[in-house]
Amino acid sequence: MTAPKPIPFLDLKAQQARIIADLKPRIDAVLAHCMFILGPEVAELERQLAAFVGAKHCVAVSSGTDALQIAMMAEDIGRGDAVFLPAFTYTATAEVPLVLGATPVFVDIDPLTFQMDVDHLERRIAEVRAAGKLRPRAIIGVDLFGQPADWDAIQALAQREGLFTLDDCAQAYGASLHGKRLGTQADATATSFFPSKPLGGYGDGGALFTESDERADLFRSLRTHGEGKTRYEVMRTGMNGRLDTLQAAVLLSKLTVFQEELDARARIAAIYSARLGNAVGVPALVPNSVSAWAIYAILLPNGAARDKMQAGLKEAGVPSAIYYPRPLHHQPAYAAAHDGSSLPVSEDISTRIMALPLHPDLTDQDVERICAAVLASV
Ligand SMILES: *Cc1c(COP(=O)(O)O)cnc(C)c1O
Repeated sequence: MTAPKPIPFLDLKAQQARIIADLKPRIDAVLAHCMFILGPEVAELERQLAAFVGAKHCVAVSSGTDALQIAMMAEDIGRGDAVFLPAFTYTATAEVPLVLGATPVFVDIDPLTFQMDVDHLERRIAEVRAAGKLRPRAIIGVDLFGQPADWDAIQALAQREGLFTLDDCAQAYGASLHGKRLGTQADATATSFFPSKPLGGYGDGGALFTESDERADLFRSLRTHGEGKTRYEVMRTGMNGRLDTLQAAVLLSKLTVFQEELDARARIAAIYSARLGNAVGVPALVPNSVSAWAIYAILLPNGAARDKMQAGLKEAGVPSAIYYPRPLHHQPAYAAAHDGSSLPVSEDISTRIMALPLHPDLTDQDVERICAAVLASV
């Protein structure tokens, strides 16, 4: 018997084939006008991205990481400031406060939805206030794997505590909570167009959303070296954080199929949960929300069962990935910034979580093959 053809974890070639007729003329238009920096496609993309989520302002930037950094720079967050964020997320969430001289304070997650545990967040804020060394300034909520963080509870707590809220929506552009797309739940929202995200470009890119006119002005200034009303007036220390016009053209093309792709992701996730829910742990849904399904993660009983599952899937030509094998407070880069408290849920989940392929170009046969391979490897 010949080995089955491997299923791709992500299939950007199949997606490109679907959009190529729309994509090529958009790229040709940029090649014709040569406005490669902040060309008309960037403004059009910002308009469409803001309209899609119902946000007042969108500012397109060079990456999701730079979006987080610009949002924190606009608040003057730095030395002596505590920034609260989940320990179970991608490294960029914690990297940005550290780059700015602030201190990340790691918070544990809910064992069922994997989102930040807001009761623990409240205790962490109290601990930092009691210790008196750092000034609590901001909360970064992460919409992990495409599902919304608990924004009702985070916003209520932030209001009581007088903290700035930043939504790290890198994995969840297009998701919604209480029927409203993510983009307006926090004081500022940052997303990413890294190629593997639900709305991915052909290179790095990101965007910021806010309802505040003042913040939007600051974001625009900061992405272009802190410029003022005229180009050679420098008002503040900024960065080179613009989105390329060519990336904007690619993203405009991807937006034409984005809702269909979100629907396809949701349909496949529902099949996984229905077929696999009795055999492995499947993701608990955040109430009153629609996920962007960036990542479909299952839970095994322990690390040995995960190893066995990954080996079985590999044999069947089904790729898998681990997001995230180590919580951030255990990463060498962040150990010195961490206060040493244990975060037992993040520590446990990281040993036994595993992601299955989930992208809009999986066929029904692919999905069936993936389910059969999972069920055979339990
Ligand atoms: C991808 C990601 C980022 C960073 O986005 P880039 O565009 O790669 O810089 C930040 N936070 C989370 C949770 C992410 O998944």
